[in-house]
Amino acid sequence: MKTIKDYIRTIPDFPKPGIQFRDITTVIQDADGLKLAVDSMCDLVKDVEYDVVAGAEARGFIFGSAMAYKEHKPFVLIRKKGKLPFETVSQSYELEYGSAELEMHTDSFPAGSRVLIVDDLIATGGTIEAMIKLVEKLGGKAAGVCVLVELPDLKGRERLEGYDVFSAVSYEGE
Ligand code: AMP
Repeated sequence: MKTIKDYIRTIPDFPKPGIQFRDITTVIQDADGLKLAVDSMCDLVKDVEYDVVAGAEARGFIFGSAMAYKEHKPFVLIRKKGKLPFETVSQSYELEYGSAELEMHTDSFPAGSRVLIVDDLIATGGTIEAMIKLVEKLGGKAAGVCVLVELPDLKGRERLEGYDVFSAVSYEGE
């Protein structure tokens, strides 16, 4: 039986030299790959109690909304600055070069909600850290973080100490 890793395509030197890009398009363009990925992520968090799933643009939308649908939970969007039409809260975070900003609608969930944070991949953890801050600004509690792929060499999990991080696939020293 194929594993999730079998479906992930690695592109060396994309988007720049030295980066091993873990391409998940080859997971989701295969019906069995998509099902395996979403089912595995749901299984990882089966003991986590959460009220709502939050996913970040754009690949977090794919896995987050599929998980929410499967578990019959609401799904809320975390988008890049300027995309959401209603009142928002925002959080800036550092990228390798410069900074970026993520936003959420202020009515995404009621205060006190337990929010499962979903993305495709955790590298340095900077994006997920910004997502957690947004959720907390809205009075939510980060019930857990679930990603398809983890790159432990970049120490994202350490950056998110105190939060539960679940990953389906890990590339250590690869
Ligand atoms: P970070 O904030 O460093 O944890 O980076 C997270 C985001 O950058 C993820 O949502 C990925 O989409 C993207 N990313 C970073 N490194 C890689 C990589 N090696 N392969 C694929 N995507 C990556």
